[in-house]
Amino acid sequence: KSFKDLGICEQLVEACENLGWKTPSKIQAEAIPHALEGKDLIGLAQTGSGKTGAFALPILQALLDTPQVLFACVLSPTRELAIQIAEQFEALGSGIGLKCAVLVGGVDHTQQAIALAKRPHIVVLDEADRLLNDDFEKAIDEILSVIPQERKTYLFSATMTKKVRKLQRACLRNPVKIEA
Ligand code: AMP
Repeated sequence: KSFKDLGICEQLVEACENLGWKTPSKIQAEAIPHALEGKDLIGLAQTGSGKTGAFALPILQALLDTPQVLFACVLSPTRELAIQIAEQFEALGSGIGLKCAVLVGGVDHTQQAIALAKRPHIVVLDEADRLLNDDFEKAIDEILSVIPQERKTYLFSATMTKKVRKLQRACLRNPVKIEA
């Protein structure tokens, strides 16, 4: 199957081609059609499987369908991964004027306020593994309280751990489970 077969629009198919992505990876082929149908996803896939594309492409497709700022919030366990995720969003969104902001801990707040003032479409936060610590319910509640009731949630992990299951119960609604 091609990206087009999965329901991705021409602009984004071109962005994939520009990155050298000729055909969808397994996790992308399985995840993207469900995401475009409006389902929540829980995806189990290793690093290198193309899982970033599996959630970034449906987010970008939905953004093109209903353009608005502050469209998606991505939580990453580490700073390195947060930066990599934002780079993939920016690469895929370069032709559509996409703006991303990476907000990481321990950085001058003024800089981050400036990044947010540019009204990004995608905000990427790091250290989300701390959300999985003891007070995680409080942290999740705080985040969910500022996100519209109507939302889509995609949870991707290499393995299904106890913590991931806890996060799934707290955040996902009737998710489709995908393994690749
Ligand atoms: P990830 O698993 O998201 O960390 O992606 C690993 C690497 O695979 C990244 O360098 C992506 O650019 C690349 N990649 C993602 N999707 C595809 C695809 N469909 N075809 C070729 N490479 C891909």
